[in-house]
Amino acid sequence: MSKKYKKQTKKQSEEIVKILIDEYKDAKCGLDFTTPFSLVVALILAAQCTDKRVNEITPIFFKKFKTIEDVKNADINDVIKIVRPCGFYKNKAHSIVESAKIICDDFNGIVPDTMEDLTKLCGIGRKSANIILQECFSKVEGIAVDTHVTRLSRKIGLSNGKTQFEIEKELQNLFDKKYWNRINHVFVLHGRAKCIANRPKCDECPIAHICKKND
Ligand code: SF4
Repeated sequence: MSKKYKKQTKKQSEEIVKILIDEYKDAKCGLDFTTPFSLVVALILAAQCTDKRVNEITPIFFKKFKTIEDVKNADINDVIKIVRPCGFYKNKAHSIVESAKIICDDFNGIVPDTMEDLTKLCGIGRKSANIILQECFSKVEGIAVDTHVTRLSRKIGLSNGKTQFEIEKELQNLFDKKYWNRINHVFVLHGRAKCIANRPKCDECPIAHICKKND
Protein backbone atom coordinates (compact mmCIF):
# COMPACT_ATOMS: atom_id res chain seq x y z
CA MET A 1 0.00 0.00 0.00
CA SER A 2 1.34 3.46 -0.90
CA LYS A 3 2.24 5.88 1.90
CA LYS A 4 -0.42 8.38 2.91
CA TYR A 5 0.36 11.91 1.79
CA LYS A 6 0.68 14.31 4.75
CA LYS A 7 -0.59 17.82 4.17
CA GLN A 8 0.08 21.21 5.80
CA THR A 9 -2.62 23.47 7.18
CA LYS A 10 -3.02 27.02 5.90
CA LYS A 11 -1.42 28.38 9.09
CA GLN A 12 1.60 26.08 8.81
CA SER A 13 1.94 26.92 5.11
CA GLU A 14 2.13 30.61 5.94
CA GLU A 15 4.82 29.90 8.53
CA ILE A 16 6.79 27.93 5.93
CA VAL A 17 6.70 30.65 3.31
CA LYS A 18 7.62 33.35 5.84
CA ILE A 19 10.64 31.34 7.01
CA LEU A 20 11.79 30.67 3.43
CA ILE A 21 11.37 34.32 2.37
CA ASP A 22 13.43 35.33 5.39
CA GLU A 23 16.07 32.68 4.62
CA TYR A 24 16.39 33.63 0.94
CA LYS A 25 16.01 37.40 1.11
CA ASP A 26 17.84 37.97 -2.17
CA ALA A 27 15.88 35.38 -4.14
CA LYS A 28 15.05 36.67 -7.62
CA CYS A 29 14.61 35.50 -11.18
CA GLY A 30 17.80 33.69 -12.19
CA LEU A 31 17.48 34.61 -15.86
CA ASP A 32 19.08 37.80 -17.19
CA PHE A 33 16.82 39.96 -19.35
CA THR A 34 16.50 43.57 -20.41
CA THR A 35 13.13 43.59 -22.21
CA PRO A 36 9.96 41.46 -22.10
CA PHE A 37 11.00 39.82 -25.36
CA SER A 38 14.44 38.94 -24.03
CA LEU A 39 12.70 37.23 -21.08
CA VAL A 40 10.43 35.34 -23.51
CA VAL A 41 13.54 34.06 -25.32
CA ALA A 42 15.33 33.22 -22.05
CA LEU A 43 12.34 31.28 -20.72
CA ILE A 44 12.01 29.26 -23.92
CA LEU A 45 15.72 28.41 -23.73
CA ALA A 46 15.51 27.59 -19.99
CA ALA A 47 13.43 24.42 -20.44
CA GLN A 48 15.61 21.61 -19.08
CA CYS A 49 18.66 23.87 -19.16
CA THR A 50 20.46 25.79 -16.41
CA ASP A 51 19.94 29.53 -15.92
CA LYS A 52 23.73 29.91 -16.13
CA ARG A 53 23.88 28.39 -19.60
CA VAL A 54 20.90 30.45 -20.78
CA ASN A 55 22.54 33.62 -19.45
CA GLU A 56 25.63 32.81 -21.52
CA ILE A 57 23.62 32.31 -24.70
CA THR A 58 21.10 35.20 -24.64
CA PRO A 59 23.75 37.98 -25.06
CA ILE A 60 25.11 36.13 -28.12
CA PHE A 61 21.57 35.73 -29.45
CA PHE A 62 20.67 39.41 -29.08
CA LYS A 63 23.99 40.54 -30.52
CA LYS A 64 23.00 38.77 -33.74
CA PHE A 65 19.23 39.47 -33.62
CA LYS A 66 18.74 42.99 -32.32
CA THR A 67 14.96 43.38 -32.72
CA ILE A 68 11.86 41.18 -32.63
CA GLU A 69 11.58 41.71 -36.42
CA ASP A 70 15.15 40.39 -36.83
CA VAL A 71 14.07 37.24 -34.98
CA LYS A 72 10.84 36.95 -36.97
CA ASN A 73 12.78 37.09 -40.25
CA ALA A 74 15.71 34.95 -39.06
CA ASP A 75 16.95 31.91 -40.92
CA ILE A 76 16.04 29.08 -38.52
CA ASN A 77 19.49 27.52 -39.03
CA ASP A 78 21.18 30.70 -37.76
CA VAL A 79 19.00 30.55 -34.63
CA ILE A 80 19.72 26.84 -34.15
CA LYS A 81 23.48 27.49 -34.34
CA ILE A 82 23.28 29.94 -31.43
CA VAL A 83 20.82 28.10 -29.15
CA ARG A 84 22.31 24.61 -29.68
CA PRO A 85 24.16 24.58 -26.27
CA CYS A 86 20.80 24.91 -24.46
CA GLY A 87 19.57 21.51 -25.70
CA PHE A 88 16.35 20.68 -27.59
CA TYR A 89 17.66 23.33 -29.95
CA LYS A 90 15.40 22.63 -32.94
CA ASN A 91 12.21 22.96 -30.87
CA LYS A 92 13.53 25.96 -29.00
CA ALA A 93 14.66 27.76 -32.19
CA HIS A 94 11.25 27.08 -33.73
CA SER A 95 9.43 28.38 -30.62
CA ILE A 96 11.52 31.57 -30.54
CA VAL A 97 10.96 32.42 -34.22
CA GLU A 98 7.24 31.51 -34.07
CA SER A 99 6.77 33.62 -30.93
CA ALA A 100 8.44 36.58 -32.66
CA LYS A 101 6.05 36.13 -35.61
CA ILE A 102 3.00 36.01 -33.32
CA ILE A 103 4.16 39.11 -31.40
CA CYS A 104 4.79 41.04 -34.64
CA ASP A 105 1.69 39.88 -36.52
CA ASP A 106 -0.91 39.71 -33.72
CA PHE A 107 0.34 42.14 -31.08
CA ASN A 108 1.91 44.99 -33.10
CA GLY A 109 5.42 43.95 -32.13
CA ILE A 110 4.76 44.35 -28.39
CA VAL A 111 4.93 41.43 -25.95
CA PRO A 112 1.38 41.10 -24.55
CA ASP A 113 0.71 41.59 -20.84
CA THR A 114 -2.12 39.15 -20.12
CA MET A 115 -2.07 35.47 -19.24
CA GLU A 116 -4.46 34.70 -22.10
CA ASP A 117 -2.30 36.38 -24.75
CA LEU A 118 1.09 35.31 -23.40
CA THR A 119 0.07 31.66 -23.50
CA LYS A 120 -0.68 32.08 -27.23
CA LEU A 121 3.08 32.38 -27.80
CA CYS A 122 4.96 29.28 -28.83
CA GLY A 123 6.75 27.54 -25.95
CA ILE A 124 5.21 29.79 -23.28
CA GLY A 125 2.92 28.05 -20.78
CA ARG A 126 1.33 29.29 -17.55
CA LYS A 127 4.58 29.02 -15.59
CA SER A 128 6.54 31.21 -18.00
CA ALA A 129 3.59 33.58 -18.48
CA ASN A 130 3.37 34.05 -14.70
CA ILE A 131 7.08 34.93 -14.60
CA ILE A 132 6.78 37.40 -17.51
CA LEU A 133 3.74 39.06 -15.95
CA GLN A 134 5.47 39.39 -12.57
CA GLU A 135 8.93 40.40 -13.76
CA CYS A 136 8.03 42.70 -16.67
CA PHE A 137 4.58 44.05 -15.90
CA SER A 138 4.37 43.84 -12.08
CA LYS A 139 1.19 41.78 -12.44
CA VAL A 140 0.62 38.85 -10.12
CA GLU A 141 -2.02 36.54 -11.55
CA GLY A 142 -0.75 33.22 -10.29
CA ILE A 143 2.19 31.20 -8.97
CA ALA A 144 4.94 30.03 -11.34
CA VAL A 145 5.03 26.26 -10.82
CA ASP A 146 8.13 24.60 -12.27
CA THR A 147 9.89 21.34 -11.44
CA HIS A 148 11.35 22.76 -8.19
CA VAL A 149 7.98 24.05 -6.97
CA THR A 150 6.32 20.77 -7.98
CA ARG A 151 8.86 18.62 -6.11
CA LEU A 152 9.06 20.77 -2.98
CA SER A 153 5.28 21.25 -2.75
CA ARG A 154 4.81 17.53 -2.50
CA LYS A 155 7.78 16.91 -0.20
CA ILE A 156 6.87 19.66 2.26
CA GLY A 157 3.16 18.75 2.19
CA LEU A 158 1.70 21.76 0.38
CA SER A 159 0.17 20.04 -2.62
CA ASN A 160 -0.23 16.58 -3.99
CA GLY A 161 -1.60 17.87 -7.30
CA LYS A 162 -1.06 15.75 -10.39
CA THR A 163 -0.52 18.63 -12.81
CA GLN A 164 1.27 21.95 -12.51
CA PHE A 165 -2.12 23.64 -12.90
CA GLU A 166 -3.60 21.65 -9.98
CA ILE A 167 -0.57 22.47 -7.83
CA GLU A 168 -0.80 26.16 -8.72
CA LYS A 169 -4.48 26.25 -7.71
CA GLU A 170 -3.79 24.46 -4.39
CA LEU A 171 -0.92 26.81 -3.59
CA GLN A 172 -3.10 29.81 -4.43
CA ASN A 173 -5.64 28.54 -1.89
CA LEU A 174 -2.97 28.03 0.77
CA PHE A 175 -1.03 31.29 0.41
CA ASP A 176 -2.07 34.91 0.66
CA LYS A 177 -1.64 36.65 -2.71
CA LYS A 178 1.11 38.88 -1.31
CA TYR A 179 3.40 35.80 -1.31
CA TRP A 180 2.60 34.49 -4.80
CA ASN A 181 5.42 36.24 -6.67
CA ARG A 182 8.02 35.06 -4.12
CA ILE A 183 7.18 31.36 -4.03
CA ASN A 184 8.95 30.28 -7.21
CA HIS A 185 12.16 32.15 -6.39
CA VAL A 186 12.48 30.92 -2.77
CA PHE A 187 11.52 27.34 -3.64
CA VAL A 188 14.11 27.22 -6.42
CA LEU A 189 16.83 28.39 -4.02
CA HIS A 190 15.67 26.07 -1.24
CA GLY A 191 15.62 23.14 -3.67
CA ARG A 192 19.21 23.89 -4.62
CA ALA A 193 20.56 24.73 -1.15
CA LYS A 194 18.83 22.33 1.24
CA CYS A 195 15.98 20.28 -0.18
CA ILE A 196 18.12 18.66 -2.84
CA ALA A 197 16.46 15.82 -4.76
CA ASN A 198 17.33 12.41 -3.24
CA ARG A 199 19.70 13.91 -0.64
CA PRO A 200 17.87 16.62 1.32
CA LYS A 201 19.87 18.29 4.09
CA CYS A 202 17.05 18.08 6.64
CA ASP A 203 19.38 18.62 9.61
CA GLU A 204 20.31 22.07 8.21
CA CYS A 205 16.83 23.01 7.02
CA PRO A 206 15.02 26.00 8.59
CA ILE A 207 11.59 24.39 8.07
CA ALA A 208 12.56 20.90 9.29
CA HIS A 209 10.32 21.28 12.38
CA ILE A 210 7.23 21.74 10.24
CA CYS A 211 8.00 19.86 6.99
CA LYS A 212 5.93 16.71 6.37
CA LYS A 213 8.86 15.07 4.53
CA ASN A 214 6.61 13.18 2.12
CA ASP A 215 8.36 10.68 -0.14
S1 SF4 B 1 13.07 19.19 6.13
FE1 SF4 B 1 14.16 18.03 4.55
S2 SF4 B 1 12.56 17.35 3.15
FE2 SF4 B 1 11.70 19.04 4.37
S3 SF4 B 1 12.09 20.91 3.17
FE3 SF4 B 1 13.77 20.67 4.60
S4 SF4 B 1 15.34 19.58 3.42
FE4 SF4 B 1 13.39 19.30 2.35
